[in-house]
Parts: sequence; structure tokens; C-alpha cells
Amino acid sequence: MAARIRLKLSPTRRPVSDSAPAPETPRARDFIREMVADDVATGRFGRAPATRFPPEPNGFLHMGHAKSICLNFGIAKEFGGTCNLRFDDTNPFTEDMKYVEAIQRDVEWLGFRWDGLYFASDYFERLYDIAERLVTRGKAYVDDQTEEQIRANRGTVTSPGTPSPWRDRSPAENLDLLRRMKAGEFEDGARVLRAKIDMAHPNMIMRDPLLLRIRRGAHHYRRGTAWNIFPLYDFAHGLSDAIEGITRSLCTLEFKDNRDIYDWLVAEAGFTSPPTQVEFARLELDYTVLSKRKLLRLVNEGHVTGWDDPRMPTIAGLRRRGVRPEAIRDFAETIGVARKDARVEIALFEHAVRNDLNMEVPRRLAVLDPVKVVLVNYPEGQVEQLEAQDYPHDVPKTGTRTVPFSREIWIERDDFMEDPPKKFFRLSPGNEVRLRFGYIIRCEEVVKDAAGRVVELHCTYDPETRSGGANSDRKVKGTIHWVSAAHALSCEVRLYDRLFSQPDPDDVAEGQDFLAALNPASLVVIPEAKVEPSVAADPAGSRYQFERTGYFYSEPEDSRPGKLVFNRIVPLRDSWAKEVRKG
Ligand code: ATP
Ligand code: MG
Repeated sequence: MAARIRLKLSPTRRPVSDSAPAPETPRARDFIREMVADDVATGRFGRAPATRFPPEPNGFLHMGHAKSICLNFGIAKEFGGTCNLRFDDTNPFTEDMKYVEAIQRDVEWLGFRWDGLYFASDYFERLYDIAERLVTRGKAYVDDQTEEQIRANRGTVTSPGTPSPWRDRSPAENLDLLRRMKAGEFEDGARVLRAKIDMAHPNMIMRDPLLLRIRRGAHHYRRGTAWNIFPLYDFAHGLSDAIEGITRSLCTLEFKDNRDIYDWLVAEAGFTSPPTQVEFARLELDYTVLSKRKLLRLVNEGHVTGWDDPRMPTIAGLRRRGVRPEAIRDFAETIGVARKDARVEIALFEHAVRNDLNMEVPRRLAVLDPVKVVLVNYPEGQVEQLEAQDYPHDVPKTGTRTVPFSREIWIERDDFMEDPPKKFFRLSPGNEVRLRFGYIIRCEEVVKDAAGRVVELHCTYDPETRSGGANSDRKVKGTIHWVSAAHALSCEVRLYDRLFSQPDPDDVAEGQDFLAALNPASLVVIPEAKVEPSVAADPAGSRYQFERTGYFYSEPEDSRPGKLVFNRIVPLRDSWAKEVRKG
């Protein structure tokens, strides 16, 4: 199994770096930046560093892509180079304009601007010209074997492959067949174009790899039905890089063996100073899946509400949940890039999200599981406006608001225990607790229904103990949050949790797939929670810390004035750490 990345979590956060001036000479934080720094120092490519982010528009971007985006765009920015957004859209069956649009939106939202916007499908003509040149020079041939036969004849790592009976066709015959493939004369699968390299090559990929295949009349979302032949990944990818003048083509480790064909093709196509491929570790994150194919299944099979379901590890899902792009960029920086694959603990990401929000968002009072408290000695009909701080002292931001206080308030059900254990410093019969920004109260009487469930608590308050008042120094062990019952706004709260209940969702019993590891409680809806009235004035898409509860986002699509909905972005603490220890 791959190693796990577990970094020490530090509670303090670097200042937001957007406005900070870029350092004169970028520190080489990782082996790729070291390489690029060396390219610049030696003038290796004779041009400024050029990178690209090359998604296939067949799904939404996820956290893994975010890592690649931060790396490619980050390098361009740090080294005064360029970074293109290029859609690797060479498959007519899976791609769609809606994905192109979503990807652009996500890259921009993450805070990056591309230099060039390109589509590999615009290179079909050039790729075809290169194919003709390879054929003419005896470097490629048309094979009449089926793809299955080709696979079967490829040999094994220990034995060479069997050359195709069509391998020694003349360039003229190959050219004629290639042109007829393009013209749509042959059925899908009848023929393919292959590079003529070496059927005994130690790297299996180099045993005459496929370059073009027939997809007659297939409808491509940009090129329509103009093309009957389509390039394979290896043929399109490196040459697209070369056409754009990329210097370092950064990709994940599973493409390591493709580097030979990458180099062969850019050289045979005659590019001088071509790009070179550099591989880095793919991001795998605990308790989720980072594969468009799997995410697409979650969407199509209805396990989530869509690509932007707040539980999804997609950029769109994280945005909808309320995560800020700063947190994603910080996370990418924290994990860095390595040459070896490793799973990353989700706690590390959640830590980045909390750290970011802690410094940014105002505090509010909200009660998720309300039980009523009646302050029996508080004058009926009286309302006080209590001054409340928006931020704690260790956060540079400041602000205040008032919260209404009255005779009946809501508190959190689990802030009361009738028969508490020793260290329970919240409310219990005969015990005192401070109300945040308010008074010290004492529980005098517990009212229960026939089933024995607590329905109301009768308390007294000590009028001398108002926060900020002369006697506010009187100490009690606990402080709890509350909202005034008469003034609170009812709201729906959506508590999102991890989508899968085990770190590696693919680690399931034989015959099952990752769906068996779905967490059935990944969404818990609280239909009626209570929040202080000040939030009514804020637009949808506002973020808060609900004190003692977690970070919340007013749901951007479903929240309306009079019907507030909040997404929990992340709880204040990692409740799973406890679970794991218990288990
Ligand atoms: P998926 O397996 O989810 O379909 P992919 O690699 O096929 O991902 P692409 O659209 O081809 O998706 O990826 C665009 C770029 O993002 C590629 O350069 C790829 O290496 C990078 N990338 C994709 N997934 C990850 C990941 N988990 N970690 C780091 N980089 C990734
Ligand atoms: Mg891919």
C-alpha cells in the first residue's frame, strides 16, 4: 500500500499571500521547481517556462486536478512564464461543452488566469499532417489487425511481440490507406495507424503503439462529424504540448512509461527544443474518490445530487459547500509535490479549510438542536440588546453587533444533562452556566413529556452578571450559546460529512465496488434550527462560524429570505479522530 501523508497540524496560519510581493528568486520548494529553476538558469529551452493544464472535458474538476492546476499555474507565475488551459478533447464519445464551461469557471474561481486557451481538437489537421509525414518516412503503417489482435501480439515483458503481417507495407500503400481511413471508407476497427518502432522494445508501450483509430461519423462536440479518425492519447498529447511550445509537461506518475513515446513522437515530428514530460504523485485523498469515472457514477446513479453536491470532492462541490479557494490553494501548497504516490489524510484538508475560515468569517449564534429555556425571574416582555463580538481576540478582524435577549431562549439540547458526569461544565439541575455575551443562569427545574424527554428547562438568571457589567467577573466553568426564542430565525441546516465511511473506498470485499463504502449518513438535514436574527440582512453565500458548532455557508442556490438554508462547511473539530480511536 502507498505511504500516507500525515503532516503536523499547526494551528496558526500564514498571512494571506495574495497581496504579498513575489520573491525575486523563487525558492525551489520541490523537485519540479528545482528543475524549472535550472531550465531558467541554463536557458535549456531558449524560452520562458511554459506549462499547461490539460483536462479532458468529460467531467468536472476535482481536488486532484486542483493540485495539478496549482502546480502548473503556480510555476508559470513564480518563474515569469506562461500556462495554457488546453482541453485534451480527442474522444468523440465522452466530451461535452458543459464540461468545458464548468472547467473554465473552476480554474478561474481557484484564482488562476490562463495565457492561452486551446483545444486539442483544433490540432486534428496538424496531427493528421504529422501522421502523413510519418507514413511517408516509413515511421508509421496502417495495420489491418483488430485492436484485440494487436494486444494479443504485443508479447509480454519477458518476450517480444509478434510483428503485424501488415508491418512492411510500402509508404505509398500506407499513405493511400491512411487517406481512405480519413475519407471514411472503412468501418470502425477495420484498420488503425501504428507507429513503426520496435516490437521487442523493453517498454511495451513502444511496441508499435496505436496513433489513429477509425470512429466513422462519430459526433465530436466541437468538430461535429467532420472527422472519421481520431488520435489516441499518446499521439495527441505530446504533440499538442509541442505545438504550444510547452517546456515542461507535468503529469501524474501513471504516465511514466508513456514518456518514451512522448519523446519519440516530438522528435520524429521534427520539433526542435521539444517539451519534456515530468511526472509527479497523483493526489489520493482519504474518505473520497478522485476519479472522474467514479464521480460520474455517483452523479448518474443518484448517490449525490450532482457534480456540485457539497459532498463531492469536485471544485464545484467544494465551492457550493462554502470552502474558499484560498483553502484549496493552501492545501495544495501544504501537500507539495512528490515523486511517490501517497494517500493524504482528509484531516489535512479540513485543517486547511478551518484555518482559512477562522481568520476570515464572523461568529454568530445558532442552535442546531434546540431545547427551550424559560428564565422565570426575567421580566415578561423585556428585551435587551446585548453587544456581541464578531471575532475572537486572536483574529485580526474586528466588529460588533447586537443580539436580542429575552425571557425565553433556545439552547443546544446536549448542553444540558440531567445526570451529568464529573467534568460536564454545561447546564444541569442546580448548576450554573454563562450565556455567551449574557448572564449566568442556574437550572431550577426540568420539564419532561410523558416519554421522559426534556421539553423545557426553567432557570433563573443573575441580573448582576451581564457580560461587560460590573459583576461580569464572577466565574463559572462553562459558557454556552443560545438564541432568543422570540427573535430567532428558523432555518434548515445541512450537515455534510465524509462521503465514504472508510479511508480507501476501493478497499472493499471481493465482488463489491467503491459504492459499498458510501457513508449512509453523509448528509443529515436539520429541518428547523434556530439562528440569531442578524444574519437575515446578509446575502446568500455568506459564511460564518456558528460558535461552538462549526463553519457554515448560507446555501447559494436554495436559501431565500424567509427560508434560510445553511451548509455546514466543516465542524470545529475532527469528530472522526475520536471514532477512529474508539474503533
Ligand atoms: P480522472 O482519472 O479523474 O479522469 P484524468 O487524469 O483522466 O483524471 P484529466 O482531465 O486527463 O483527468 O486530467 C487533467 C490533468 O490533471 C492531468 O494532467 C492529470 O495528470 C491531472 N490530474 C488528474 N487527476 C489528478 C490527481 N488525482 N492528482 C494530481 N493530478 C491529477
Ligand atoms: Mg485523463
